[in-house]
Amino acid sequence: MNDVLAGSCLCGAVGFELLSLPKAVAHCHCRQCQKGHGAAFASYGSVPRSDLRLLRGLESLTGYASSPGVLRQFCAACGASLFWSRSAGEHADWVSVALSALDDAFVPGKQQHIYVESRAPWCGVGL
Ligand SMILES: [Zn+2]
Ligand SMILES: [Zn+2]
Repeated sequence: MNDVLAGSCLCGAVGFELLSLPKAVAHCHCRQCQKGHGAAFASYGSVPRSDLRLLRGLESLTGYASSPGVLRQFCAACGASLFWSRSAGEHADWVSVALSALDDAFVPGKQQHIYVESRAPWCGVGL
């Protein structure tokens, strides 16, 4: 397992590297993640903002404020969800990265499912 993890969006326009391993890995079952990802849940891990290096595609990266102070960033060309972050508060220096965008293998030490009370009734994954 590399210390540097590479990632990209579906179309490849946006490419990035993580300079440290994602922490606080969580599979989020909230309705916003379901809608945003078009999936039963979204899997994210967080790195300090300074450890997210955008390699290409800054012009393709666009964002949506899903809540006040919360920015969800995605590729304007393919729609792939990539990052979300807060503009204020104790986690403002961190960015959460959609683990599905990683191209290198990453196995977190621990992980959790959150907002399971809103989990999709059509998803057969047992928790
Ligand atoms: Zn793309
Ligand atoms: Zn969520």
